[in-house]
Amino acid sequence: MDPSDQARVRAHGAADSDTRPMAAEVAVRAIIDRLPAVLYVADVGVGGRWHYISPSATEILGFAPAQWLGDTGLWARQVHPDDRERVFDREDDLLEPSVPEEYRMLHRDGSTVWVRDEAALVTDEEGNSRWHGVMSDITDRKLAEAELERRAEQQAAVARLGERALEGTEVAALMHDALEEAARILGVELGAVLEAPPDRSAPILKAGLGLESAPARRRKVPDAVAAKLTGQIEGRDGHWGVLWLGTAVQREFGAADVDFVQALANILADAIQQRGTEDDIRYQALHDPLTGLPNRVLFMDRLGHALSRPGAEVAVVLLDIDNFKLVNDSLGHSAGDELLMEIAPRLQGALRPSDTIARLGGDEFVVLLEQIPHARAAMRVAERMVAAFEVPFQLSAGEHFAKASLGIAIADGSDSVPASLVRDADAAMYQAKSNGRGGFEVFDRAMRIRTVARLSLENDLRRALEREELRVEYQPIVSLKDGSITSVETLVRWQHPERGLVPPGDFIAVAEECGLIEPIGRWVLEQACIQAAQWHGVRPDARPLGISVNLSVRQLTQRDLEATVAQALARSGIEPSSLCLEITESVLLEEPDSISEMITRVSRLGVRFVLDDFGTGYSSLAYLTRLPIDGLKVDRSFVEELGCDERSTAITTAIVRMAQALSLEVTAEGVETERQALALAELRCELAQGFYFHRPLAAAAISELLAAAAPREATSA
Ligand code: C2E
Ligand code: CA
Ligand code: CA
Repeated sequence: MDPSDQARVRAHGAADSDTRPMAAEVAVRAIIDRLPAVLYVADVGVGGRWHYISPSATEILGFAPAQWLGDTGLWARQVHPDDRERVFDREDDLLEPSVPEEYRMLHRDGSTVWVRDEAALVTDEEGNSRWHGVMSDITDRKLAEAELERRAEQQAAVARLGERALEGTEVAALMHDALEEAARILGVELGAVLEAPPDRSAPILKAGLGLESAPARRRKVPDAVAAKLTGQIEGRDGHWGVLWLGTAVQREFGAADVDFVQALANILADAIQQRGTEDDIRYQALHDPLTGLPNRVLFMDRLGHALSRPGAEVAVVLLDIDNFKLVNDSLGHSAGDELLMEIAPRLQGALRPSDTIARLGGDEFVVLLEQIPHARAAMRVAERMVAAFEVPFQLSAGEHFAKASLGIAIADGSDSVPASLVRDADAAMYQAKSNGRGGFEVFDRAMRIRTVARLSLENDLRRALEREELRVEYQPIVSLKDGSITSVETLVRWQHPERGLVPPGDFIAVAEECGLIEPIGRWVLEQACIQAAQWHGVRPDARPLGISVNLSVRQLTQRDLEATVAQALARSGIEPSSLCLEITESVLLEEPDSISEMITRVSRLGVRFVLDDFGTGYSSLAYLTRLPIDGLKVDRSFVEELGCDERSTAITTAIVRMAQALSLEVTAEGVETERQALALAELRCELAQGFYFHRPLAAAAISELLAAAAPREATSA
């Protein structure tokens, strides 16, 4: 009731007192009794006497009017302690007497009652100033207001946390924020984020508030609290844990509080689902996502620890999958990934549980062996690892045979450091690769020298093209019928400024590994075609001299090979049929479809293909019929023993017969003696190449040979 109403009550009562005084007074009393307010008349000052207080004081504040009138200190005692200063200050300061004031009183039962106290200072005829006031119970309104305010605060807190989550705040920090916000807004002093492990073992404390007394690992939430509130956190695979809040003070939480805590828990759940907990993040930083194995960082750390242990007997085995690039390039990266995922568990199966296996990246795996007393023990492990590749891998593209080369490095006492041990294992692995794939080698000092040499070779090779250190030679291929030169094979050479002439056998493999084979191969092809065009131009009437160029596997996996070949043909203007590309059997070993497709596409340009080094590899007849192959070159090793060794003779005879049956042109390589040439002619092998006829020669020397042969060809025509 506001003061004007009160004035009206009084005025009304005064006006009616003449006609029906008793009835009016009864009515007013009845109204006053039922008001949700206490009317009062009291002396000014905190300890002032109370002259009147309406009966509603009994219900609203718990004390009957008689108690108020008889106890001058009662009001001051019942003002809520937190509001006393403010209220008493105003009581003593009469400058703004009529300002309504809202403050808290304590009900006799201890509960808090919000009152709105409005009073006017009234001075009677005797000059006594007294408060004539009304104290209304506004507890419900105040609680509703506080509730609204808290809800707004809660919403703001949820929004803040959500924003922090969006910004990518670490999950651990987010958990702390959630606990702090919840504790502040709900007014609780204990909080925790608890992960419930799927195996139902004790919950793990991920973040805590007010639980600092125990050592970090053993911290738990107290078993008994006066009141608690939890929000459920859902993880990627179902229930993850809870957001827990507790207080030692007895209290009740409302539905809004429950919603609030759940909203915070939901934000944590989203963050955990998206990014995992801090442990997951740590795990991710130290593991290879594809195979789940430790990564390089974790491996180096473990290796460092192992080496630092006194009397450490440590070995490192490095494994690199052979021709992995071929799998990726031809079957696609997902096939490569599949293969790696299959390899990881197989290798793990070949090791003891105490050995650490890691993926270093790409197709490299590395194993840390401890308590390895001698190289033999490490070699036994390597043998088991090699054996793990015996069974083919089941990829979605089909069955796949893979091999790997391994390098072993044994720590020598105290002066081994992790990085150099891995580098040594790497050098040994390279040695294993060049010794023929699918085996292993143990590191020795000579290898380090070779590795350094290989690395410097790689660097030099990068510059060889621009410095024009590469050149080509041509080795004639002759007809065994009449000895005429039908074509030449282009063979690359490297004139190294310090090393002198480096044979292709010493640098082609390096070029393949470091990707330089593509520009080198393109350059050789262009040189060969231009040179062939020149020879054709010199003898326009003769049958165009054939030109052979060797192609490496890597070039066949290059998407632009077709364009490269077309360009070389166009620039030189030679007939496509005079160009012959030599590919080795190993190219077809894994028979990736993309390589067969590439061969087919390039052959459609009119270019011929022959299979080089036939007989050394997989010698399957199947792809000879499936692919557009025009001929094969019998490897030098068969020719070498022709006529001496019966078995070789038999094989060579079989190859030539088979090729003839398939209408393939046969060239015998490495013919060094007359006897070999005669034996081949007897087999009716058509073509031959070798030192017996000609060594690889510079273009000028070939020109001379052709010029010398020309008159003879002209007469025979
Ligand atoms: P290849 O394709 O089998 O080439 C024939 C090799 O045998 C040549 O070695 C040649 O000099 C050698 N040779 C020829 N006749 C005889 C003989 O009667 N006796 C003996 N012992 N050897 C003979 P080179 O030039 O050292 O080339 C080695 C290999 O390097 C080649 O073997 C080929 O695989 C590769 N290569 C050479 N040039 C290139 C190229 O431009 N690109 C690619 N990708 N590889 C090339
Ligand atoms: Ca060749
Ligand atoms: Ca060959």
